[in-house]
Amino acid sequence: MNRLRSLFCAVALVPAVAFAQATRVPSPSEHLGFTVGADRTLADWGQITGYFQRLAAVSPAVHVDTLGPTTSGQPFIVVAVSTPANIARLAEFRTAQAKLADPRRLTPDEERRLVASQPSVIFISNNIHGSEIGGSQMAMELAYRLATNDTLQRYLDREIVLVAPSMNPDGQRMITEWYRKNLGTKWEGGPLPWLYHPYVGHDNNRDWFMVTQKETRLVTDYLYGVWFPEIFYDVHQMGSEGARIFVPPLVDPVNPNLDPMIVRGIAHVGAEMALALEERGKSGVANSVIYDLWWHGGARSTPTRHNMVGVITEAASVRIATPIVQDTSKLRGHARGLPKYERRINFPNPWPGGTWRLRDIIDYELVAAEALVRLASEQREDYVRNFVAMGRRAIATGAKEAPYAFVIPAGQGDAGAVERLVDVLRVGRVEVGQSRASFSAGGKTFAAGSYVVRLDQPYRAHAKDLLEVQRFPKMEQWPGGPPERPYDVAGWTLPLQMGVTIMPIDQPLTVDAPLVTDASPRVRCVTRAAAALGAPAVRDTRQYGCLTRVPRVGLYKSWTASMDEGWTRWVMDDFKLPYVSLGDSAVRAGSLRKRFDVIVIPDLSLREVRDGMSDAQVPPPYAGGLGAEGIAALKRFAEDGGHLVLVDGATELAAEALGIDVKLVTAGGGGGSRNAAADAEQIYAPGSILRVAVDPAHPVGKGMAESSAIYFVNSTSLDLPAGSKARVIARYPSQPDSILLSGFLQGASKLAGKVAAADVPLGSGRVTMFGFRPLYRGQSYGTFKMFFNALLEPGTSGPVQ
Ligand SMILES: [Zn+2]
Repeated sequence: MNRLRSLFCAVALVPAVAFAQATRVPSPSEHLGFTVGADRTLADWGQITGYFQRLAAVSPAVHVDTLGPTTSGQPFIVVAVSTPANIARLAEFRTAQAKLADPRRLTPDEERRLVASQPSVIFISNNIHGSEIGGSQMAMELAYRLATNDTLQRYLDREIVLVAPSMNPDGQRMITEWYRKNLGTKWEGGPLPWLYHPYVGHDNNRDWFMVTQKETRLVTDYLYGVWFPEIFYDVHQMGSEGARIFVPPLVDPVNPNLDPMIVRGIAHVGAEMALALEERGKSGVANSVIYDLWWHGGARSTPTRHNMVGVITEAASVRIATPIVQDTSKLRGHARGLPKYERRINFPNPWPGGTWRLRDIIDYELVAAEALVRLASEQREDYVRNFVAMGRRAIATGAKEAPYAFVIPAGQGDAGAVERLVDVLRVGRVEVGQSRASFSAGGKTFAAGSYVVRLDQPYRAHAKDLLEVQRFPKMEQWPGGPPERPYDVAGWTLPLQMGVTIMPIDQPLTVDAPLVTDASPRVRCVTRAAAALGAPAVRDTRQYGCLTRVPRVGLYKSWTASMDEGWTRWVMDDFKLPYVSLGDSAVRAGSLRKRFDVIVIPDLSLREVRDGMSDAQVPPPYAGGLGAEGIAALKRFAEDGGHLVLVDGATELAAEALGIDVKLVTAGGGGGSRNAAADAEQIYAPGSILRVAVDPAHPVGKGMAESSAIYFVNSTSLDLPAGSKARVIARYPSQPDSILLSGFLQGASKLAGKVAAADVPLGSGRVTMFGFRPLYRGQSYGTFKMFFNALLEPGTSGPVQ
């Protein structure tokens, strides 16, 4: 695996070595005045960016790019480290990377020259999850070592390393502040009672095709518009009781759109990391557990649909920066690959237990990152050549294999959703054409203005994976055993989620469809005309007036950091719908009807709403939830003529706290119980698209197709008793086989015929129950209108103008 290693003894790079000796470059610890990774010590975002600015000022081996401001206005930086000679030529290398990424732009001469000379480019992504903070500290040491260590500098003669110290600077800052504030108290190292990103918390790592958040957009533009790295490495942390670090390879299933060379490349990097960790005496390294190569939307999965090797590691966590003592008897294996904590082929050297510290995380991550740096240098030529080969193969496959293209026909229902889908594809650097005249393809005729996504393009895998239906393969855990279940989302098909009709074209096509190049950002709002039609949508505000007077909406915000709450805020902000965030004390204070027409409870369980977190977990101001008093205030609000909108898990309130006669049908087949056979009977779908029949005559169903798609995340559906006063808005088909549209669904027969959404009078007001998430992660445009209808439609709430 290191066939080039011996060559390096002969390579003498005098300038880099001389530079390291001659220049006084401060180490992170010297600059900060404390040891990086010391117990109970964290550098915050200001200190981290300060260090990198100083490093770049004194070291010609380092260059800092500020990509832009984050959601709350912090600088988002990426640090380039190479040899001083390479750093002086970054612009030239970037131009060449763009050509390698799109082989249609490469002449044979250029290709020969670049394969022989172009440095490899790797991107190291740290701390995307705010609480997984080790990487943000490690990044400073990594950059310092790369810039000053002679061996590493020699590798960088053939390589450019791009390091994002934090993919989520707002979260880095929040976690650091919270941790420092609670140092020395019983809450030291405990959870943050709000999301560690202004909108989406942990879900920032599920935003990588939809690209709704600022940080995702900055990095997406940098990866696929500026730098085109061959390898993307995402540095994460996991739970504390298993392996000390997970490295690739990952587990089945492999998404069929991944080039085989991606799968091999990921395993190659993982093997190099594992070997380096063993060489350095780091025990507890596992591969081939938990993490699969199926789902799309993660920071590491989107690069793999752009011909880049996307790898992940997951180090065992501590309590932020507080050491933990891990009892040997409490160490466990991981589901899918390592059920017991014992020696196996993928875990030959278990960690024995003991004290585990932030510094250990940093040390493991440094070894893994430097192993990757060495590999990408020694195998530079292979990675450059493979990158070109994969782009070329994508283009060739799209030209000779069905589907040859997808057409988004002009003139269909929700023009706003069509525009948004085209935007999403284009932000991911998928080429989208628009036909000048009507044309025929695959035996159908399409009107002028239809969009055409040809698949003979370098990022075919990304386009195809977003537009086609996912069928999570049937795999048994053992012969005759229960099914293997997805560990993250199983289906994401955007046309289904967004309510957009597309047509796959199964014959080669010729069409005059110049590529869409318009880059003007669209302003979204809910329009008067659209709301009256029951089809609130993306609109250009220059053409349509936005609604200005809307019902007074309160959005419940718990101290349990609900991601659905964050997404709801994001969608409402994006569509310029005003609302007030309502905390526990504001709800408990009562008199809600005077202030609000509608109150939305996002996807939270009754326990989360009522009890919140305990004062053992968080300090008293954040502990406790709504309590009985707050629940009673919500009930009174509806009885006084208000409109309560309960989303997914929050339907528990209806059944158990508001006295509404409804039975809940919950998912539960996640394999958690000891009875595998009983588990396999349960509903389980951790992220799939399901079919429902919608009543378009219902105010909430207005503008929906009678057969529509909803997003289901082990959601809570409804069983209404005979004689119920509730009115059904959407219901699952009675045929189990026709429920699943994309992804994976276990226990379909338990869902057949059940109610997906309904509303019911309560006193002189009403309660709308969504047994799914209509604003799912900012993706499910097809059901946004149901949510907007619930807020805006006369007859379901206050006045609309
Ligand atoms: Zn993570």
